[in-house]
Amino acid sequence: MPLNDNTLAALAHLDRSPPVLVTGATGYVAGQLIRRLLQEGLTVHAAVRDPGNTERLAALKALEDSMSGKLRVFASDLLEQGSYAEAMAGCRVVFHTASPFVVSVEDPERDLVRPAVEGTRNVLQEANRQSSVERVVLTSSCAAIYSDNADALDTPRGCFDESVWNTTASLTHQAYSHSKTLAEQAAWKIAEQQSRWRLVVINPSLVLGPAISDDTHGESFSLMTQLCDGTLRIGAPDYGMGVVDVRDVAEAHLAAGFLPTATGRHLVAGHSSSFIALGRLLSHHAGPQYAIPTRQLPRWLVWLAGPLANRAVTRKVVSRNVGHAFVFDNTRSRERLGLVYRPLETTLHDMFDQLEASGRLS
Ligand code: NAP
Repeated sequence: MPLNDNTLAALAHLDRSPPVLVTGATGYVAGQLIRRLLQEGLTVHAAVRDPGNTERLAALKALEDSMSGKLRVFASDLLEQGSYAEAMAGCRVVFHTASPFVVSVEDPERDLVRPAVEGTRNVLQEANRQSSVERVVLTSSCAAIYSDNADALDTPRGCFDESVWNTTASLTHQAYSHSKTLAEQAAWKIAEQQSRWRLVVINPSLVLGPAISDDTHGESFSLMTQLCDGTLRIGAPDYGMGVVDVRDVAEAHLAAGFLPTATGRHLVAGHSSSFIALGRLLSHHAGPQYAIPTRQLPRWLVWLAGPLANRAVTRKVVSRNVGHAFVFDNTRSRERLGLVYRPLETTLHDMFDQLEASGRLS
């Protein structure tokens, strides 16, 4: 039961007649959100870059066939001004999930910051023009709260919560976090300049769990694949991270979109874990035929080799994250949205089973 009884009771009365918009509809998080919206019987306007790519849209179409809601697909690009107008027309709620989620890029300004920030402005300025819009739910990230686990030491309560903003990311340090911070700040600025629609923000930690399609890619899947396909057979670092199930993230968006009382930011993280802890949990489930790391790599080795393996894993990133736990407070998401987080084992096992069944680990 991922939402508590109070939230479910409040959602039972939602008006299902106006459509809702989901940007980045072909994405991993958006897929589970759309599944949940269609299950509620809503009409979902799915904004995608390439509506002609029937392969990528097949999973969404299959969901529509099995659920009571309706799906309509629109062409939109974050970097094209006005390109969300048709998709947003008549919508009451806008779920803005589209943003590049890539950790290692060639040009952080071009590949991350520009699409994240300009795209957010583009979508929210469209909301200003569409009189039907009453709420915008922004998929921000924990990355807009912090760059590195060590940042928790400098917070007022010694942990990450919604009052904390990322002040340490830049184009040269945790550039993805920088892009998400600037995008969420741009969103609050636009929201505060008007009073017709309300901005509600979801700040998920690392999202794991099954996708709606066996063919889903992206950073969450590449991390999980790396843990399971032998890439890290010699060991994994004690790199702390928050983890949340993608289905819980979808529930959080649903509550944020429709609960009359929803407001502000929500740190959506179910568990504090680490690379090595995830490996150990997975190895029990997967069995000995998979080379899943159970040995912790020494910090000095990660410090030396990390930058060679991935340009985003600089020595500063290693120093400030390896050996540091993700310390957080998710009270607001539980009390205000009514989220009941799934056990971490369920998330990992379901994702592993999907990867294994689809042949991506062989
Ligand atoms: P994803 O599967 O890579 O989805 C990203 C989506 O953004 C894709 O649909 C992509 O479209 C779209 N997009 C990227 N650039 C675009 C552009 N220029 N114009 C239009 N659409 C564009 O990643 P995800 O994991 O689902 O992430 C979705 C959201 O959740 C992002 O805002 C991300 O920052 C946030 N988030 C993710 C995690 C996580 O662990 N996965 C954690 C916290 C927050 P195409 O399909 O056409 O490429």
